[in-house]
Amino acid sequence: MRGNLVYPYSNALLEYEFRKDHPLKPDRLKLTYLLSKQLGLLDKVKEIEPTHASREDLELFHSPDYIDAVEDSGTTNNIHPQYGLGTPDNPVFPLIHDTGARYVGATLDAMRAIMGGASNAFCISGGLHHAHKNAASGFCIYNDVAIAINMLHKKKKCKVLYFDFDAHHGDGVQNAFYSSKEVMTISVHQTGKTLFPGSGFVYETGGVEGVGYSVNVPLMPGAGTPELIRVFDEVVVPLFESFKPDLLVTQQGVDGHYMDPLAHLTYTSHGYETVIRKLRDMSSDICDIGWLALGGGGYHPVNVARLWTLFLAVMLDEDVPRKVPDEFKEAASQMGYPDIPEFMRDDDEVVQLYVPREQVSMDLDRALRRVNELVFPYHGL
Ligand SMILES: [Zn+2]
Repeated sequence: MRGNLVYPYSNALLEYEFRKDHPLKPDRLKLTYLLSKQLGLLDKVKEIEPTHASREDLELFHSPDYIDAVEDSGTTNNIHPQYGLGTPDNPVFPLIHDTGARYVGATLDAMRAIMGGASNAFCISGGLHHAHKNAASGFCIYNDVAIAINMLHKKKKCKVLYFDFDAHHGDGVQNAFYSSKEVMTISVHQTGKTLFPGSGFVYETGGVEGVGYSVNVPLMPGAGTPELIRVFDEVVVPLFESFKPDLLVTQQGVDGHYMDPLAHLTYTSHGYETVIRKLRDMSSDICDIGWLALGGGGYHPVNVARLWTLFLAVMLDEDVPRKVPDEFKEAASQMGYPDIPEFMRDDDEVVQLYVPREQVSMDLDRALRRVNELVFPYHGL
């Protein structure tokens, strides 16, 4: 049995807010924490208070010029469009650098705890997978994922598997490790033909030494739980077993859920739960350093809370009640969220009804055949 799962959280994380009407609402974290606490799951984790990442930490991935620009935006409110700062997705705000650095700090604290023997962590504020070396992008200021993996690699040569099932392609993390075979990135997402950031096609397989170590499975709008499970079983499982990572890092954005307002996938709790359970078992069997689980997208705050709480329960091998507790519903409606699901898990049959299954499934057949041709030979598969 491994050490207690580490869970970085503090109210200071709620200050990462671009604007009141911006879709990335801090209530996502607040409601997740509340529901996980109400269900007694936080009694079973080791909660830690996140620290700030230092300038030196941020420079493990970002350029000094870019960090200067973020600091300047925070101090002067100046925009720097050449660095992605002050765009509609990433408006500038006074705490942009401070809260960005605190988000990175939370993920680094989780990584340090894992390196120190904790083995598993769930950092719900982490997973800012779009941030680039020189630019903010897609609500992401600093790329906590790339920084944390680089910190680990500074201390220890080891293999990392990054698996990203956010509805959007994990472009920032893929680019960070595109030429590396120490870090394998696998992203399953809605196709870049119809969704930001417009990348993540099967032919993006890595460069130089890293060819075969960037893996992408784009899905058509409407794809859901059957496709997610199929990609997991036919791509993630064989690559996980052949690569044998020392550490698993997952980006667990839930904007692929059928209720999410920003993307067009139709995952359900059943699909997510199946994936998280398998990740738990495989990381426990294969990864000697452990599993760093991160949050990510998800723009229906109550639903994010319900799903991330379910993920935490699965990670801890605990169960959740059938119904969303009344005390949570009351608290959420007081916070202005009246639209609250009745149950902790979704009814798959309701969701399947409005998906053009045949087309989605044929498109996935093609994508999987291409992954087989372009990636699997590098891994003896
Ligand atoms: Zn996303």
